[in-house]
Amino acid sequence: MEFDLLVIGAGSAGCAVAAGLAHADIGSVCVLEAGPSDAVPQVKIPFGLLYTMGSKRDWRFTSTPQGNAENRTISVNRGHMIGGSSSINSMVWFRGRNDDFDNWALPGWSALEVEREFREIETLIQPRRLPDPHPLSEAFGKTFRSNSLAPPTPERESAGVFETNIRNGRRWSAADAFLRPSLASGRLTVLSGASVDRIVIQSGRARQVELIDGRTIKARAGIVLSAGSIGSPAILMRSGIGDGAQLSGLGIPIEIDAPGVGRNLHDHPAIGLHYQGKNTGYGLVPGQLLQWAFSPLQWLLKRNGRMSSNFVEAGAFFRAASVTALNDDKPDCQIHFMPYMMGYKGRQITLASGYYADVCICRPVSRGNLTINTKDPRTSPIINLGLLSDERDVDVLLAGFKKMRKLLAKAPFEHLRAEEVYPGADATTDEEIIRHIRNRVATAYHPVGTLAMGTQDQPVSSELQLKGSENLWVADASIMPSITSANTNAPSMMIGHKAAKLIIRKLKKS
Ligand SMILES: Cc1cc2nc3c(=O)[nH]c(=O)nc-3n(C[C@H](O)[C@H](O)[C@H](O)COP(=O)(O)OP(=O)(O)OC[C@H]3O[C@@H](n4cnc5c(N)ncnc54)[C@H](O)[C@@H]3O)c2cc1C
Repeated sequence: MEFDLLVIGAGSAGCAVAAGLAHADIGSVCVLEAGPSDAVPQVKIPFGLLYTMGSKRDWRFTSTPQGNAENRTISVNRGHMIGGSSSINSMVWFRGRNDDFDNWALPGWSALEVEREFREIETLIQPRRLPDPHPLSEAFGKTFRSNSLAPPTPERESAGVFETNIRNGRRWSAADAFLRPSLASGRLTVLSGASVDRIVIQSGRARQVELIDGRTIKARAGIVLSAGSIGSPAILMRSGIGDGAQLSGLGIPIEIDAPGVGRNLHDHPAIGLHYQGKNTGYGLVPGQLLQWAFSPLQWLLKRNGRMSSNFVEAGAFFRAASVTALNDDKPDCQIHFMPYMMGYKGRQITLASGYYADVCICRPVSRGNLTINTKDPRTSPIINLGLLSDERDVDVLLAGFKKMRKLLAKAPFEHLRAEEVYPGADATTDEEIIRHIRNRVATAYHPVGTLAMGTQDQPVSSELQLKGSENLWVADASIMPSITSANTNAPSMMIGHKAAKLIIRKLKKS
């Protein structure tokens, strides 16, 4: 098989980049996706994400034991299907803060320059306030009185019901917004079940890919790597692009010595609070059995009700730390509020009703790294999230947890108010809360940064080219030098959309 351009990974960024390339008249484009189709109800129905997480449509990676989190391994869920993580995520829509992009300090990526890219993708995504939130989510949105109806924003302290990429009650993923509409161009081929082992590079030119099942697919003009923050660096390492000393140790011939590949891994660390109370939030209790039983029919007929819930219905941004080494006064924490009784003894939903909230750090300073497995490079990569490896993150999370508790205590829940059941009285002093954080910290599922753009020893240029290659581009969340201050799906789509323009410009010049 031979195409002009290959895109590896049909995720948030991959779908956007493929659409942009297919619309330009620069030749044939083939998207190679390791996972299966997304055409199943549990992907389309927002509530279905409960069933896709942990299924065959999830890569189900786990981290290495995290030394600063009681040596626990942490789940690293990633979408493994058409649409990638945009087919498994909670559909919360945030661009990030303007100065997230300005602080990248890279040509073409200032807030002003990415504004147009965001506007263009938002005409296709049409993010909207979650249409049918639970009354608890509406109430939580009134936590900061000034802006209860406007969506919250990481630009200032604010709370509210989230905007989501749900359209007419169903998930509107990157595959829905970008990929499927582009098939009409006639220049786009999408192959699912096509898991890329490595890219074959000769003299700095990417020539073809080899699939795990032995097939090879040639690229006449170039290759775009959009396999996400875990998949993309792993593919490069298997292709001989990475830390030379490490790859030699694995017996992989070095094509490009790029020690930055796999470094700078980071995510938003998060810690939660569980509340339980009769007739409060959603839960598996006898009093709600009828509503649960009728909710699929309600969704089918009216596209609303609990099946149209994205779980993470509302939230807030606030400043937690009074003085930190970060030396600024912008919101440093985000709350995700879920009007669900989330299990705290192992299961996701427990036999009770209640609600749950977690707080995560907007701009963590801890960094981890990713390498490939020394025994079999094709098995799951070795993912060290580096959680809480910088003590400043522990300070912010402690302050954030305390403030989240206060905000939940004063939220106008009225008769829907429930009791904090976990960690409850076990975590009142700073020492106890820090112990709870180390025992329970996880991430918001936003890994970024493993193929960072930069002007120094980072592996990717600000034109998204892999340094040392002339026709290999990276377009996904891995290229973020530092994480945006909120959820990362919209920025990943923006990266893919912008990548297509950069690639087209380069190909038209050459
Ligand atoms: C459970 C969950 C909830 C989340 N909730 C939100 C949210 O509510 N809002 C938000 O903004 N963000 C959320 N995120 C994060 C957001 O979805 C991601 O940041 C974003 O989708 C990343 O896009 P990407 O293009 O970098 O990678 P992905 O979308 O993950 O795409 C990578 C694609 O590459 C494919 N791939 C990987 N390796 C190979 C290979 N070897 N060969 C071929 N294909 C390969 C994968 O299967 C996948 O389809 C969530 C993520 C998860 C997992």
